[in-house]
Amino acid sequence: MKKYDSVVIGGGVLGAFVLRSLRRYDISCILLEASGDIAGGITRANTAIVYTASDNRPGSLKAEMAKRANENFHELCNDLGVRFSRCGSLMVSFGEKGDEVLRKKLIQGEENGVRGMKIISGSEAKMLQPLLSENVTTALYSPMTGTVNPWELTIAAFENAVQNGAQAKMNAKVIDIIPTDEGYEVKTENDVFFAKTVFNCAGLEADKIHSLVSNDGIRLSIDGADFIVFDKYAPKPDMIIFHETENGKGITAVPTVEGNLIVDSPPREADNSFDTTSEGLDYIIENLNKVLPELDTKRIIRSFGALRPNPHKPDGRSIHSFCIENPSPGFYSLIGIKTPGLTCADEIGKYLAGFAVEYLSAKINEDFDPVRKTGDHIGGEIICLCENITKGEIISAIKRGAKDIHGIKRRTGALMGKCQGSRCSIKIKKILEEYNETL
Ligand SMILES: Cc1cc2nc3c(=O)[nH]c(=O)nc-3n(C[C@H](O)[C@H](O)[C@H](O)COP(=O)(O)OP(=O)(O)OC[C@H]3O[C@@H](n4cnc5c(N)ncnc54)[C@H](O)[C@@H]3O)c2cc1C
Repeated sequence: MKKYDSVVIGGGVLGAFVLRSLRRYDISCILLEASGDIAGGITRANTAIVYTASDNRPGSLKAEMAKRANENFHELCNDLGVRFSRCGSLMVSFGEKGDEVLRKKLIQGEENGVRGMKIISGSEAKMLQPLLSENVTTALYSPMTGTVNPWELTIAAFENAVQNGAQAKMNAKVIDIIPTDEGYEVKTENDVFFAKTVFNCAGLEADKIHSLVSNDGIRLSIDGADFIVFDKYAPKPDMIIFHETENGKGITAVPTVEGNLIVDSPPREADNSFDTTSEGLDYIIENLNKVLPELDTKRIIRSFGALRPNPHKPDGRSIHSFCIENPSPGFYSLIGIKTPGLTCADEIGKYLAGFAVEYLSAKINEDFDPVRKTGDHIGGEIICLCENITKGEIISAIKRGAKDIHGIKRRTGALMGKCQGSRCSIKIKKILEEYNETL
């Protein structure tokens, strides 16, 4: 049986950052991921926003983490070699009820120490973002909001953890956990791993993993959201636009670091599939017409669905804070970490590593290097014409762990352009086949 100080279950953004934070200390660790690659769960489909703390209750762990995470995001992305845009945001409303919510968010944000926020009029908002509707009555301007590519961030954190000595195993679905006197036997279909501490970062499956060692009855219910993507060359706002409706959150439009615009729907019911729903997509189009009426919907190039795990107690009451549980010594569960989980991933990683340090009496790893080595950019034939991605870059992505075209997309940006892979996906599949044959 392979023995470690820590096993991390799940290779989403949280597992990747927990793994990286553990390597800041002299802690031997391995990440076990059920699928063939990392960043394929909730992390691959979300709104990509680096939030300020203006949405969080003052004094809460979320507010504390979001503020610190937001302020440190530039440095984090510099270390990891990841694109980050502090584009700022405007939360817009269309009447007194929404205006009032914006004023409350300003007070809450200021209480949480968020810098630079202010209320502006609808006409000032339109001057800042000319594509906005002239019916906007009020806007909350927030210069600290930003955006990052979620899978780029996850892959970078994971690679940096591995460069610092962490191990990882793909296609390693955890199916059982047996507590022992010294720690835990973590069983996958083919292996058993022993660890003194276990970090359950299994996303949509986190409640099931948790229930292997705890009968506290915390469960997840799943809802979803829909997204549309505009091509890079479509005229678009250059700040994030949040839409506050009479009934709460409406659409959110985000100019991504790749140059596209993504727009999401509010939460809707989901049946555990990442498929889109026609109601969600119709909602987006209808509300885009209200908020950003001059956007050209003929420039939409794709849509995708997302799943969101909501933690609740056995009696059905929702858990609104980050649900971080310690059901037995050395076992830590992240159950249903919702927004701003992406923003706070590094903070959550450090927080959990802090428990491990105490539990294991671990020392600082003096050799830890937070800077990811990104390797050479290799050229060769251009394979993805929309995004200018070369054969060399695709081979480098395969060497870094990409197993299929999704892994290539997440590591290179190929297939994300206007043609959405219709010109290059066959070529990329061929390179994958050729490379795998030579192994
Ligand atoms: C619609 C939506 C929008 C969001 N927008 C934002 C945003 O704009 N900003 C922000 O800060 N946050 C946002 N979030 C929150 C953020 O996306 C999540 O907090 C974060 O992605 C959760 O990552 P994770 O690592 O917990 O889960 P995942 O990414 O799902 O990773 C879990 C991993 O565990 C693996 N796994 C599952 N079971 C097992 C098993 N038995 N054995 C081994 N591995 C297993 C899965 O295969 C998966 O790879 C959003 C969330 C949603 C749903």
